[in-house]
Amino acid sequence: MAGSRNGGWWQTKRRALVVAVALTLAPALALAQATLDDRILDIREQSRFVPDKALAQLLKLQPELAAAPSNTRAEFLSQMSAARMRLGQNDIAMETAEQVISFGKSLHDNAIVAKGMLAKAYVLSAQADVETAHRIAFDAEKLALATTDTALKVQATITAGQSYAEQGNFPAALVKLQHAVDMARPPTGDAISLVAALNALATLHVQMKEYESASETLDELLAETEKLKSPGRMSMAKNTEYALSIDSGQPKRALRALLQSLDLERKMGAERMVGITLVNLADSYLKEHDYARAAQYAQDALRSTEQTKDKSAEATARINLGQAYLGMGRLAEGKKHYEAGMTRYEQENNRPDLQAALREYGEALERAGDLAGAVSAYHRERAISNELFEKRRQQAMLELQEKYETEKKQRQIELLSRENQVKGTEIDNRRLQQRVWWLLALVFALAAAVVGLLYRKVRHTNAQLEVKNLELKAQSTLDPLTSLYNRRHFQEFMRGLNMQEKRSDDIVGALFLLDVDHFKHINDNYGHAAGDAVLKMIAENLRIALRETDMIVRWGGEEFLAFLPAIPRHGVDEVARRILTGISSQSLKYQEHQISVNVSVGFSPFPLVPGGEPLPWERAVNLVDMALYLAKAHGRNRAYGVRGFSNFHLTSMEVIEQDLERAWRGGFVDLSVVLGGDPGTHPTTPTEHTNVVSIKQATQKH
Ligand code: GH3
Ligand code: MG
Ligand code: MG
Repeated sequence: MAGSRNGGWWQTKRRALVVAVALTLAPALALAQATLDDRILDIREQSRFVPDKALAQLLKLQPELAAAPSNTRAEFLSQMSAARMRLGQNDIAMETAEQVISFGKSLHDNAIVAKGMLAKAYVLSAQADVETAHRIAFDAEKLALATTDTALKVQATITAGQSYAEQGNFPAALVKLQHAVDMARPPTGDAISLVAALNALATLHVQMKEYESASETLDELLAETEKLKSPGRMSMAKNTEYALSIDSGQPKRALRALLQSLDLERKMGAERMVGITLVNLADSYLKEHDYARAAQYAQDALRSTEQTKDKSAEATARINLGQAYLGMGRLAEGKKHYEAGMTRYEQENNRPDLQAALREYGEALERAGDLAGAVSAYHRERAISNELFEKRRQQAMLELQEKYETEKKQRQIELLSRENQVKGTEIDNRRLQQRVWWLLALVFALAAAVVGLLYRKVRHTNAQLEVKNLELKAQSTLDPLTSLYNRRHFQEFMRGLNMQEKRSDDIVGALFLLDVDHFKHINDNYGHAAGDAVLKMIAENLRIALRETDMIVRWGGEEFLAFLPAIPRHGVDEVARRILTGISSQSLKYQEHQISVNVSVGFSPFPLVPGGEPLPWERAVNLVDMALYLAKAHGRNRAYGVRGFSNFHLTSMEVIEQDLERAWRGGFVDLSVVLGGDPGTHPTTPTEHTNVVSIKQATQKH
């Protein structure tokens, strides 16, 4: 219980102490060779223990400073600030510290700026603005380490290490303070710097409960301090010895160290240090449950600290006094002092010490029988504990949250990049799909175009085929040279003809068969082409001589047939004459020749009905051919027509067909003869008069 009771108190005291130590670094120089710098350094060492005297001496030096170099003036101002701070004149101390900083900045001198910042940090600490003090202390250390001033570097490093310790960051503090000790050792460092560094390191070891290391460091500290012959420094070392002893369970050694310290301080007139030592004495008797003596020392401490305006030490003195009274059962007085002390802790925002004080307060109240007060203290202690815990928890939460946010962001980034990948693939796929569709569309378009072209070609071919078929059909029915119907077409036509069709006696059909006379001569005389031209001319003449409804056929080489479907019976001979004269009257100019021709014709009405039975068309044509033969035989350029039959019961068609001429002469056949006209210019054609002669009648008469 004793250990826990001590937790807060003297830590606070020691904090006040070490800040003071850091400020008092300076080589101890003999007063004899006292230059201005030396005298300031001497005052600086004094200041820690007797700041009022130090201030008085500094003020005496002021007139000499106008002519002094900048470093001297900066050091002077720093010591002015430190002295005033120790005397509780914090406002002036702050002003002076700022002056040093401005001065250093105007000179671009980092050592002076760092010195000013350290001074400022100490004032802030005295003003209980611990956080700002720490920040400025770390900045000052950075600046100081960049200079060549070893004493300044050690001082700044110690201050940074103590700041870490106050933040509870012991590992960082240890690194700094060990570094400070190393720098302060010979040959680089000086004895005062080394003592200051060792003291800070020993104190840290105690705080860390590393009592062995603390003991080692303390031994070195005591040895080095011995050499200095400085009662102030020895007093400080004894205070550190007290801290180690009381914490490591050596109360007697602790008390002895404190009493030695008090003795030294009193001799020096170091009132400020006396106050702290008195606080520690009170604390040590509290641990012994010697409340009466504890109260006595606490009262002395209170008086001393009130006088030196050491607010921090004063607060601890009040707490100690309060606790002593509570132990003595003086409840109201005890509570008054205890609460007053804790108010200062609250001002300093010294939560850890406040929490420890409250715990002790509760326990003391409980022992004193004030259970309600104990519960209240307990609740306040819990509130601070929770607050601290909450702060730590919040810190942890913030760290966790930060970690979480970082991981979340990382995950989001990964998600996004994955999403982008997927999207990229999708876009690629879509592009590919689009390309495939375009390709398909192109293929379809091409196929459609090809099909369209093929379709058009097929249609065109079909159309051509149709034309060709028509041509073919025409060719199959027409004679190519004359464009008259050919023999086959006529045969088909006659097969389809209705022979039984009834018509009046006056209107008959008629067949005419023509053969060009001596056509061979034309071919022979003028060439085959001339013969062809003559054949064409005859065809043309026939078209002119006959009607559109009449069928004109090229029957053979130079033979033509005409079938007239309906003409008056008495007009048949006339048609024969028209044919004869039509052809013979025309001449053809071929090259230098004028060619004209005659034809011989056989003809008959159609159908012929010998004995009441119509003669088939083939036999009718055969009979007409026989008539043509007669025309040839009787002089050419004439037409012989079969008109009809007489006494048919006395003969037969077969007999008539065997010899037409004989049947005619026998009176069984009635023939008419139409003679062609003057053959014109044809040289080879025999000339006969064209007259229609009824041979039958002559024969009949015969
Ligand atoms: P005729 O009938 O008066 O007894 O004497 P012809 O010389 O006309 O008789 P023939 O039957 O001996 O000769 C017919 C000639 O017609 C024989 C042939 O070379 C000629 N011929 C037949 N067809 C064509 C044709 O299409 N063109 C030409 N140029 N000559 C043809
Ligand atoms: Mg012939
Ligand atoms: Mg002929």
